[in-house]
Amino acid sequence: MTNLTEVRHPLVQHKLGLLRDHTTPTQVFRQLVDELTLLLTYEATKDLATEEVEIETPLERTGVQRISGKKVAVCPILRAGIGMLDGVLSLISGARVGFIGLYRDEDTLEPVEYYVKLPQDIAQRGVLLLDPMLATGNSTAAAVATVKRAGAHSIRLIAIIAAPEGVERLQAEHPDVTIVVAAIDRELNDRGYILPGLGDAGDRLYGTK
Ligand code: URA
Repeated sequence: MTNLTEVRHPLVQHKLGLLRDHTTPTQVFRQLVDELTLLLTYEATKDLATEEVEIETPLERTGVQRISGKKVAVCPILRAGIGMLDGVLSLISGARVGFIGLYRDEDTLEPVEYYVKLPQDIAQRGVLLLDPMLATGNSTAAAVATVKRAGAHSIRLIAIIAAPEGVERLQAEHPDVTIVVAAIDRELNDRGYILPGLGDAGDRLYGTK
């Protein structure tokens, strides 16, 4: 897999179009984020290692594929990443879940961690980081640094929309991280929102505006 994948599948692009529409109500928005995450997870996990094992069908013995190798730790970045969690868990129900809470210090504009709870064995797991909007890349890069400090070295980011600035930042700081997105948009505005984007993902998921 190359480092950056924009999933152009028609189902993904159709759902993304609905998500961008400002008239889409909160309940539908949440459902769409769930469905899109499931589709992006399918893409983000396409290189998981498998091995052949022997089983008995009702008719005969045969070889089948099973996922082998690393188990998964899925880590949403609070708060909007939580909206993507169920989409991953519906495909990888045995994944362990870690949480990373970050806020932006208004003086330094740097991300500050306020809550981190990760699976103890994260070093042995493939990490799926979840953040719907890869905007400046500041908080995502900080979250990647957090899971790396905890020992993780196989890290994939699933985002719904990325800004070119955020992709560039993450690739420069963490070139080993695989990025899967539904779209790479045009640019950031002066308030750090992605254009054309979908607005504030957290507010739209939770109806807080
Ligand atoms: N976070 C969001 O929720 N939306 C943006 O456009 C940028 C960052």
